[in-house]
Amino acid sequence: MSKIPLSKCFVNPEVEEAALRAIRSGQYILASESKAFEAELAAHTGAAAAVLGSSWTMIVYLLHQLQGVGPGDEIIVPSHTAFPTMEPLIHLGARPVFADIDDSYGMDFAHVESLVSPRTIGVIGVHLYGHPLDNDLFLALARKHHLWFIEDCAQAQGARYNGKTVGSMGDFGAFSFFPSKNLTVLGDGGCVCTNDVQVADRLRMLRNHGRQGKYDHEFPGYNVRFSEISAAIGRVMLKHLDAFNENRRKIAARYQERLKGIVHLPPVRPWATPVYHMFVIRCERRDELQKFLKEKNIETGIHYPKPNHLQPGVVALFPNTPKLPRTEQAVKEILSLPIHGEMALDDADRVAGAVAEFYGKK
Ligand SMILES: *Cc1c(COP(=O)(O)O)cnc(C)c1O
Repeated sequence: MSKIPLSKCFVNPEVEEAALRAIRSGQYILASESKAFEAELAAHTGAAAAVLGSSWTMIVYLLHQLQGVGPGDEIIVPSHTAFPTMEPLIHLGARPVFADIDDSYGMDFAHVESLVSPRTIGVIGVHLYGHPLDNDLFLALARKHHLWFIEDCAQAQGARYNGKTVGSMGDFGAFSFFPSKNLTVLGDGGCVCTNDVQVADRLRMLRNHGRQGKYDHEFPGYNVRFSEISAAIGRVMLKHLDAFNENRRKIAARYQERLKGIVHLPPVRPWATPVYHMFVIRCERRDELQKFLKEKNIETGIHYPKPNHLQPGVVALFPNTPKLPRTEQAVKEILSLPIHGEMALDDADRVAGAVAEFYGKK
């Protein structure tokens, strides 16, 4: 039986041609392809501006600098997310204050509300697995306490909240183009979307040695730039993104149908048009199931096996972080099933059949 991968990158002649076009253009960094990609990303997201950078992590690091994040500041983040979500703020001396999850794996609103303190300056909400948080609720909380709100959209490019695309509603939306993401450039890359064009301009300068013109440096910056080859590839991928996301929803619907009553399925909130970066089930005997599927040549994953508030790198800096019971329970039971933009329904049937077989429900 052929292998069913957990995810897969789209590559076709159109993608290869785009890379060649960039190579042959003779311009390699932040030139016309990057400018066009920024405009197309902003338009697709529904934000005034998009600023590309070398990764989510680095462009958010620069954003936090512009936001004045520093020692003594607290920023509320989920623990149940990719480790990078809270790396930039830690480098700037701020403290991540970890919120527990609700049963859709997003941050629990009531818990977030209870964590706001006089030191809180912002909230980072993660649209985990491609399922949007209740944006309006978190935004209202942020406004009430004069906090900024960043949407971490690394897993949710193209997802919608009450019809609006994620990344356009918070103060900032941050995206990643790492190869596993829904929109990739077949390498590293990221961007920040915002309606604040002044911050976008500053961010563009900060990522490129603090300059406007070639030799006019207004402040010391960094090199967090973007390659033309990546931009040319990303522009092709963006054209296909909505169709790939639609296919992910079809696969998810098939899983929902076939696995009902067998395992715990991911809930979909009334406001959500998810993009299923991951299709995550909760189940008994998770590790045994994973092994069983592997023997059937079906690749699965655990996103994530260890919550961030318990990671050694966090515990060393912030000892005695409070327990997060729902997060700590979930990580023992979650399993990500294969899903990607080109996956066939037959493969979803094979996966669902194998899961059913494991639980003796076939
Ligand atoms: C991948 C990911 C990031 C980090 O993106 P990079 O481009 O690899 O820096 C941040 N947050 C979430 C939720 C992610 O999945």
